[in-house]
Amino acid sequence: MWNIEEFTEAAGITVTELAAYVVESQRGETAALRRTSPRELAERLGLTDLIAKGGMTPDTYRDFLRTFLSEGTRLHHPGFLAHQTASPDFPAALADFVHGATNNPMAIYEMGAAAATVEFEVLRWMLAKVGFPAGGGVLTHGGSLANLTALLAARARAVPDAWEDGVPDDLMVLAPPSAHYSISRAVSILGLGRRSLVPLETDSLGRIDPARLPDISGKRVMALVAAACATGTGLHDDLRAVGEWCAERGVWFHVDAAHGASALLSDRHAHLLDGIALADSVIWDAHKMLRTSSLAAAVLVRREGDLDAAFKQEASYLFYGDQGFDLIGRAVECTKAELGLKIFLNLAWRGERGLGAYVDRQYAAAHRFWELARDRPGFTLPYEPESNIVCFRYGSGDQAEIRERLMRDGAFYLTSTELGGVRHLRVTVMAPATDDATLRALLDEIEAL
Ligand SMILES: *Cc1c(COP(=O)(O)O)cnc(C)c1O
Repeated sequence: MWNIEEFTEAAGITVTELAAYVVESQRGETAALRRTSPRELAERLGLTDLIAKGGMTPDTYRDFLRTFLSEGTRLHHPGFLAHQTASPDFPAALADFVHGATNNPMAIYEMGAAAATVEFEVLRWMLAKVGFPAGGGVLTHGGSLANLTALLAARARAVPDAWEDGVPDDLMVLAPPSAHYSISRAVSILGLGRRSLVPLETDSLGRIDPARLPDISGKRVMALVAAACATGTGLHDDLRAVGEWCAERGVWFHVDAAHGASALLSDRHAHLLDGIALADSVIWDAHKMLRTSSLAAAVLVRREGDLDAAFKQEASYLFYGDQGFDLIGRAVECTKAELGLKIFLNLAWRGERGLGAYVDRQYAAAHRFWELARDRPGFTLPYEPESNIVCFRYGSGDQAEIRERLMRDGAFYLTSTELGGVRHLRVTVMAPATDDATLRALLDEIEAL
């Protein structure tokens, strides 16, 4: 049984240390990331001894936690401008803590009635935002699994017998080459073979060109995948034009809105998702712009039955009497974490408007970065950003080398990506602590390097 005194003491230490860590990170007083070697880290954290012998106490836990936090990557740091992983808000962190203690794997109602009901209501809210009044959904551990689940539903629609008999040779999926790699993985996992993923024509920035969509007469198209927004550039496909093309031809329209769906909460940016209600399926990552920890993603379908058909289950989601409902029949996972709770608590604390204001702020900061860089000689910016993702180059030298040197002292952490076959630096403004001064300092630092 739990020693409650020990738990309370250790939990208190956790809160104190995390509070100090977040404050220090937000102030940008330390490096955004450390690059200590794993051998040295294992030594400093005392890993092998603790694994072999145990015996941690609140005091040794405090020391461990301090080192652990100081050697990690700080997503609250203003200089954290790398991956699209949320700088988590604290209500979501509380949900993770509650889940850790209660462990109600809510895929079946009786294993966690409260957690399952919270998931159900969060999904209903997301479905309303996307514009699927008769839709259904499920939360998954991440966008990659959500894409797989959505495409499985598309497969069930195109080839209802695929679950029993496998897929025919001529089945294909259409997507731009810029699609997230989880799409091509899903196509392979679903048994189509990677060559069944047919690239769509795009403009020079990787957006689907609606005027050059292919002639598919006589072809068996399982789905077309569009992005809102593309991972590399943060640019949006024209969902309305592509969605109408799909509707006219009866092609399943899948919108990968892992990053961009949260802009539905912003009056200023919701127009970027115009046409999303034409989709048959949509995915939405809460652990990107809804500020939950990893992982919490949603698969949403326009017709509720499509998700259940995906797994050839009976409609097990239906309420039966007043005893509850099970969402297990529409997910790849069996056991799940209490994913709905962290989305719910962020909503409950900040409200839709608060989360929308966060999106506005981050998108504006990225736009500001673009303006600041544009005004300086030597910076090349191939497009005006639509989200909080910006790609750019400085000078004509090796951009990867610039990134390596920036990361050496750890004040800034960026990524890089290829655009039109050319390596670009890439900034994603996730942390609320990133401001104009940070962005100016980054540009100064790049020039100095
Ligand atoms: C991040 C992302 C994914 C993958 O989501 P995970 O939650 O990391 O698995 C898929 N598609 C797009 C467009 C993304 O930005």
